[in-house]
Amino acid sequence: MTQEELFKKLIAHSKEYGFIFPSSEIYDGLSAVYDYGQLGVELKNNIKKYWWDAMVRLNDNIVGIDSAIFMHPRIWEASGHVGAFNDPLIDNKDSKKRYRADVLIEEWLAKQDEKIEKEIAKARKRFGEKFDRQQFVETSPRIKEISERRHAVNDRMVKALTENNLDEVKKIIEDCEIVCPISGTKNWTEVRQFNLMFETKIGSVSEGANTIYLRPETAQGIFVNFLNVQKSGRMKIPFGIAQIGKAFRNEIVARQFIFRMREFEQMEMQFFVRPGDELKWFEYWKAFRMSWHRALGFGDDMYRFHDHEKLAHYANAATDVEFRFPFGFKEVEGIHSRTDFDLGNHQKFSGRKIQYFDTETGESYVPYVVETSIGVDRMVLQVLSAAFKEEELTKEDGSKDERVVLSFPAALAPVKVAVLPLVKKDGLPEIGREILNELKLDYACQYDEKDSIGKRYRRQDAIGTPLCVTVDHQTAEDRTVTVRYRDTMAQERVAISELPALIEREVSMKQLFKKITR
Ligand code: ATP
Repeated sequence: MTQEELFKKLIAHSKEYGFIFPSSEIYDGLSAVYDYGQLGVELKNNIKKYWWDAMVRLNDNIVGIDSAIFMHPRIWEASGHVGAFNDPLIDNKDSKKRYRADVLIEEWLAKQDEKIEKEIAKARKRFGEKFDRQQFVETSPRIKEISERRHAVNDRMVKALTENNLDEVKKIIEDCEIVCPISGTKNWTEVRQFNLMFETKIGSVSEGANTIYLRPETAQGIFVNFLNVQKSGRMKIPFGIAQIGKAFRNEIVARQFIFRMREFEQMEMQFFVRPGDELKWFEYWKAFRMSWHRALGFGDDMYRFHDHEKLAHYANAATDVEFRFPFGFKEVEGIHSRTDFDLGNHQKFSGRKIQYFDTETGESYVPYVVETSIGVDRMVLQVLSAAFKEEELTKEDGSKDERVVLSFPAALAPVKVAVLPLVKKDGLPEIGREILNELKLDYACQYDEKDSIGKRYRRQDAIGTPLCVTVDHQTAEDRTVTVRYRDTMAQERVAISELPALIEREVSMKQLFKKITR
């Protein structure tokens, strides 16, 4: 199965089992907007809890807030979003399709990397055991040619975007002979800037109403509350403020399911430090955040850092945490050293003094900021795509069978335990209900008595339930049940009284937190 097929199956599976639905589906949907279903919302809530507790509860110098989506419009002038939160767009005149010009070039660059890898694979086949990758890369004229062209184009793109030189961006697209994937032609319009913020009106009469924006990031709600939190919480630098909330961007090209949406959710933390300390903290948060991702156990090779070559004018360091999605390595989280740009500008635009008095040095200053910013929805996609598996099984009689399983980290699974009476009679449902009523005080549980036990196990595998508790006739005699483990499909007999401790050991988020290095 190709990665593309796998991804299509994942999207279909997410809908079939109540994780994610296209928005407004009975009206043919709304592009790049999605709804979370009954299991999706549980998965999303668990991811948010994993983030919130790891950031706010485990770090005693981080507190959380929940600021409003609507904010004073001047905030977006101060932050630079009104003037510069743009993407360069280009249309193909034949297919009438719209693209992000920078993404077209980035895809061309990625193709050059693939070409290089193909050359290497060919040579490896030719040379066999003796093959020395490094030597080949350094000496092959073909690789040298591709790589030099690639780097030259990359440098041109970085310069053109930094200088906002849209003619040059178009020229690069022409020089690289990039064609529209739909029409196959090079018939492009000029490159234009497109502001990604959604506007709306506040006020009861339209004439007197003011234009306001739906926030494109949650971070500004943190910056404008810096003094409120610092003073009311008597916070001492270094300290952080965290927030989870909706953000809105009128993305030009919205593709790849919930990877790029127009309404999405972010989990952001702004860490305020003494000027000069920011790069030390940048490294600290890079390590912390990577370890948060890796604790999920999907494999360290599924992640990498991608340091930014084109830094925003206010940043002095920036990196992305990338995850290997079925469609390649892509950003899930950004870690940015934003200097004093945001607080400094809010001080200027609001006319209020936004400074911190450092009792140790006796100085007042505008703190520097290191931010960690991750999309909840991209995390959901990460977890779903890493967990989705089609497995071939050999039954006891030697015949073949298969199952679809979502092998979620147990702590993130939407349903933790399924209680399944073997048959619908002989008092087994009553015992099942009794167990369920006890367990649901602590865990998300499901009760299922329909169909054969095998079918019920498959249904639980397909939604990623880590544990099934089966009640059978022996239960009525000795108060023991069978616990069946999702990943190994192993079964063991345990006393009902042992269930709470066993479940806690298997599904508690504590196991994840312990793996995060601090
Ligand atoms: P991209 O380059 O993919 O557009 P970005 O660099 O603009 O992302 P940031 O502004 O750094 O993203 O936002 C922080 C995080 O918010 C991203 O790492 C991503 O997880 C999430 N995010 C940003 N835009 C979207 C979107 N349109 N849909 C879903 N998540 C998003």
